[in-house]
This record gives sequence, C-alpha cells and structure tokens, in this order.
Amino acid sequence: MPHVLRVALDTPLRRLFDYLPPAPPAGADPAPGTRVRVPFGRQRLVGIVVSAADTSEIAPQRLKPILEVLDATPVLDEASLELLEWAARYYHHPEGEVLSGALPKALRLGAPAGASEERWLATGAGAAALAAGELRRAPKQRALLELLAAEGPCATGLLDARAGSWREAARALSARGFIASSEVPLARPAVCASVRAPGPELLPEQGAAVEAVGAALGRFGAFVLHGITGSGKTEVYLRLIERVLARGGRSLVLVPEIGLTPQLLARFRARFDAPLAVLHSALTDAERLAAWRDAFGGHARIVLGTRSAVFAPVPDLGLIVVDEEHDASFKQHEGGFRYSARDLAVVRARHAQVPVVLGSATPSLETLHNVGAGRYTRLRLERRAALAVPPLLKLVDLRHNAMRSGISTPAALAIERHLGEDGQVLVFLNRRGYAPTLLCTGCGWIAPCRECDARLTVHLAAGRLRCHHCGADAPLPARCPQCGFAVKSVGQGTERVEEVLAAQFPQASLARLDRDTVRRRGDLEAVVRRMATGEARILIGTQMVTKGHDFPNVTLVVVLNADQGLFSTDFRAPERLAQTIVQVAGRAGRGTRPGEVLIQTEFPDHPLLKSLLEHGYEGFARAALAERAQARWPPFSRLAALRASARSAEAALGFLSAARTLAGRPRGVRLLGPVPAAMARRAGRHYAQLLAESTERAPLHTFLDEWLPQVEQLRQARAVRWSLDVDPIELF
Ligand SMILES: [Zn+2]
Ligand SMILES: [Zn+2]
Repeated sequence: MPHVLRVALDTPLRRLFDYLPPAPPAGADPAPGTRVRVPFGRQRLVGIVVSAADTSEIAPQRLKPILEVLDATPVLDEASLELLEWAARYYHHPEGEVLSGALPKALRLGAPAGASEERWLATGAGAAALAAGELRRAPKQRALLELLAAEGPCATGLLDARAGSWREAARALSARGFIASSEVPLARPAVCASVRAPGPELLPEQGAAVEAVGAALGRFGAFVLHGITGSGKTEVYLRLIERVLARGGRSLVLVPEIGLTPQLLARFRARFDAPLAVLHSALTDAERLAAWRDAFGGHARIVLGTRSAVFAPVPDLGLIVVDEEHDASFKQHEGGFRYSARDLAVVRARHAQVPVVLGSATPSLETLHNVGAGRYTRLRLERRAALAVPPLLKLVDLRHNAMRSGISTPAALAIERHLGEDGQVLVFLNRRGYAPTLLCTGCGWIAPCRECDARLTVHLAAGRLRCHHCGADAPLPARCPQCGFAVKSVGQGTERVEEVLAAQFPQASLARLDRDTVRRRGDLEAVVRRMATGEARILIGTQMVTKGHDFPNVTLVVVLNADQGLFSTDFRAPERLAQTIVQVAGRAGRGTRPGEVLIQTEFPDHPLLKSLLEHGYEGFARAALAERAQARWPPFSRLAALRASARSAEAALGFLSAARTLAGRPRGVRLLGPVPAAMARRAGRHYAQLLAESTERAPLHTFLDEWLPQVEQLRQARAVRWSLDVDPIELF
C-alpha cells in the first residue's frame, strides 16, 4: 500500500491530488495545512497538504513525490483547515480554490510565511574540514565556516550583519556538505493586557451586554447586539476585546468594506496599546502579506478587517465581532467562491468555542429569525449614549405636495427652519450623477447603454454620459443624435440635488458624499471634517452616508425617494429599504438636540412604510418575516441559485434548461426557472438564473452534491460562464 499525502491545488477541479511524501532525508510527513511544491503536468504548483492516506486511486508507478516542503509550521492550522473545508462543502466550491484563496497571493506563490527563521550551522564534515586546514584558497567560505563553527546556529539576519554578502559562500559550502540550513519555528509572542486609556463609564444596558458576552468567553455563544444608532455598540466591543486581552487571547473584528474608517482605527489605537493587523481590499499584495504575517505570527493582538478577514489566522482566538452584520458587503457574490463572512464567522466561533457578537441597529431578518428560534441571544441597547432622543419620522405625500426638482415644499421649509436654528441637514438620495435619464424633447429618444438593458446617467460637471452597470462612458451630447433636437436631463441624482439646494439656500455651504466625490484616500475624511467643524451645513449623499460616520449636529434628515425599494422583483428589497431608512434616520439628532426625519414617497399607505413608521424596525421585521413565511422565502426555506451568463440569451437559458433536465424531480427540492435576470443584459452579456429551493438544508445539499458534478460535464457549460450561489442575498 502506498503512503500518500492528499494535496489541495488551486484548480477548479473538485478533488484533491495524491503525492508521495518528499524524498528522504526530509524526515516526517508535512502536517496538514503545510504548503508544498508539487509537479503538476508540466508545471510546478504550490499546494496545501490536507491529509495523509494509505490508499490511492492512482497507480503506484504514476504517483510523484512532493518536491519541496515550504513551511516549518502549517500556514493553515487545524481550526482554519476545518473552517475552509466546511465552507467548501457548504458552498459547493472546489476545495483547492477555497484553501488557496484564504492565503495572500504571495504565499500562494511560495513566499515564506514568516513564522519561522532560516538558520545555518556548521556540520561535522565542516568542522573536520576546518581542522584539516582546507579552504585556504576560498577565504570567504573559510571565514563563514569559521563563524558558524564558533557561534553555533546563526539566523540569516545575524549573518547579513556579520558576514556581508555571504549567500554565495554558503551555497558553495552547503554543496560540499560543510554547512546546512534549517527552518526553525519562531515562538509566538505572549499576549499581555495593554489598555492605553480606560473607556467612558458604561450605561446599564451596555454593562449588561458586556457581562452577558463576557460570561460566555471560553465557549461558543452567538449574541446579537441590537443597538439603535448612537447607542454605543463599539464601546461594548472594545470592553469585550479588553477582557479577551486580559485572558491572553486575541480578537477578530469584521466590519463592512466602507465601515473600516480611519476614525474606527483611531478609536482602537487610542484604546489599546496592542498591535493591530488590518486587512481590507485596498491593500497592495505586499501590505496584505505583511498584515497576514502579523496575524499569523501572533504579533497582532487584534485582527480588524473586511469580508475575507474571516479566514485570517488568529492564534488563541477568544472573540469574534461582526459589526453591521446586516451589511450586504459581507456576502461575496461575485467571482468564484461565493460565501457569507457573517455566517462563516458564526461557524468559526462554534468550531473555536468562542463567543461571536453580531452587532447592528437593523439586524437582518435571518438573524432576527435565529433570535426567535432561540439559537442567538439578543442584547438590546435602546438608549442613546449622549442623552439624545430617537428622531421623529414623518412621511411627505408627494401626491399632494408641490415639488421643485425633487424637493417637496414641506422638505424645503423644514430645511430652512433647521438651518435657521443652527442645525445641520442631511439629504439622502441613493442615486449618484446629475440625472438618471437624458431625453430628446423632439423625438423621445433616451440615451441607452449599448451593452446593458439600462439608461445612461448624465454626469453634467464631467460632461459625460455613464453607465452605472458596466462603466461605459461617452461624451454628453448637446443635441439628439437621431433628430438633432435639444436634449434635457430628466430626474435627479445627487449632483443635481446639490445644484438645486445651492440655488435655494445660497447662504449655506454644501458637501456631497458619493462615489463621484470620494475617489481618493482622504476625500471621505475631508467631507466628514467639513461637517464636524460645522463649515458645511447641508450634506447630500448616497448609501455612503449611512455607514459608520458620526454627524452629531445633524438635526434634519430628508429621504428624497423612498419608493425605489418598495416594488422590486427581489424579495429582499423591502428589508434593504427599511434598513436604509432606519440607518439614515439614525444620523439625525445624535447630539443633544432631537432629530426630525422626512421621508418623501408617493405611496404613504404602503404597508411596509406604515409598519416601519408606526412600530419601528422591530414592527417592520415582524411583518416582513410573516410575509416571507407565507411565500416560503428564506429564512423559511433554503435557496441556491445556479446562474449563467453568455453572449446570447439562448446560450445562458439553454445551459440552465439542460441543467434543469438533468435534475429530474429531486426529492424535497423545488426548481424555479430558468428565467432571464430582471436586467437581462449587462456589459454585453445575457444573465439568467435557476433557483433550487427546499424547506430543509439537508435535501438541498444532497441534491447539489449529486447534481453539480453532472452540470459541470454538460456540453452547454462550455458556452457560458456559470456559478452557484448558496444562500444568495440578491436575486436577479
Ligand atoms: Zn431626437
Ligand atoms: Zn452598461
């Protein structure tokens, strides 16, 4: 029986690869989680050892040995391997891609993990050679050998300092067997409590939350920190991290992409005299490697990061925090491996037997359902930290009120009043650009995107027409390209609202926060600073304003258009709308003044808006969950979406139809579709999807396990790009 090692390789194949252990004298088998270099066809690839076995389906004479073992300490410890294998199974994604995707690019290519040190020492043969007076004609080699013989094992850093350019001499000596090198694992630094400055006194609710989670340290527990905006969730996280540090543990904190602000980092740094490792998508490869090494080597006491940081190495993990757990950016829904970092954080906490805290002012319906079912414990923070009362929400009925360029008379009057009382105003519109439509007043032509089923957005200041779906970009025409008549911009984006407000309130200085005004590092901070100092009086912004910034002097929030989310094909749209309204409203009255929130709508009688206004987010969530239960949508069912895109609609739909035929009539699983996406054409490709739905998790996964390998083999699969999304958060 051959003894083989099963190795995960970064390929889309759903299998591991068998290799013989490295040729002697390499010693013992590399442990699971260790990187190895292996031959693969004509290439040499870096893979990760997953397990050892005494049987192989490969004929013994065809098995090849591992060429090189790259790590003295496995780069993926047992817990990480367990989490990644779980994720590969749950999301039905090839294990090799999942495992290698958890490592920074440099490590995937074979760079040292930094947890061990290369040391050189003189061998017995080397000592004998010195004694025999050899190497007289090679003074550099002789000097190095003498140094090593006298000093014992030397790290490369020491040799760099004492022996100048010693590498060439070392190669020559090592080739003759006079010296040898080895990788020695470095000890992890111990964690010591290191609080720089004590935090403010806790409110009773905050204290109770800290006690509840604190009592669960050392075992698994899932907690939902449901705290209204401004209620001091971050302070609860900081206190818990403090306790974990005091116990000699490390913490992992996940935040939404846009929530990882310099203010948040500054707050962590001001509180803890402990190294942080920060991981997010804007890092260069070198920065990512450095942060990963800090985490892996245990140098960092706190690992703070966005989505993919859920896979970061955190030795002696004591606590996981997911801030703004409802945020869509925790779901990876593009590219190959699609996963929910929020859900994986809970799985990781269970494996590691540590508590996980999911914080939000507007928890997702899935999370609230888990609270209702007793799986998660809810901790409430209902009082605001700074003596402020929650804002008052009011609807403005657009059917009965005059509008000027998107701003109703009641909204304009309220803005004037709040400015007059020295307040600041936040105007929210989730649409950037000047106007969503360019229309010809002669022939009715509307500027379309050639590549998408969408209109081009007018960007007046830039003089461009842009597609917000594919990035297409063209000069803004002065006249209709079809009939030569004048064209006009229809509707409002943030750029136009800024222009309108500047004309209406010439004495108030404005600021705008959207992807067009925040392009470089520092832009966002500049806007936040202008609001904080009171220099800007009105802030116009998109979704960006809802994430994590404090605008304590804002007393009025105007939501210009609440109606976009009310009627959508996606069953999650109402939930997202309610979350956005509550989050935007939370920006008002965070100081000592009460806030006012005006929501402009043409549908003031819509049941969702009514439940939100009358009973708050809580009441909305109850009503929305009841609707989901009735329609059998998640969390009352399990979904997986098979998606395809192709140059033609026929190819995309043809592949999905063939996949559906393959499925037959699976037990306990309903198939819905295939159907074209609501926006079927994007960037020149046609999109379609087929949904698999089940009331229980098990039958769905049994079905997917059998079905996907067959889907992969479909002839039609070669003509499309396809992917599987388990627990999709956006349906199209
Ligand atoms: Zn025209
Ligand atoms: Zn487009």
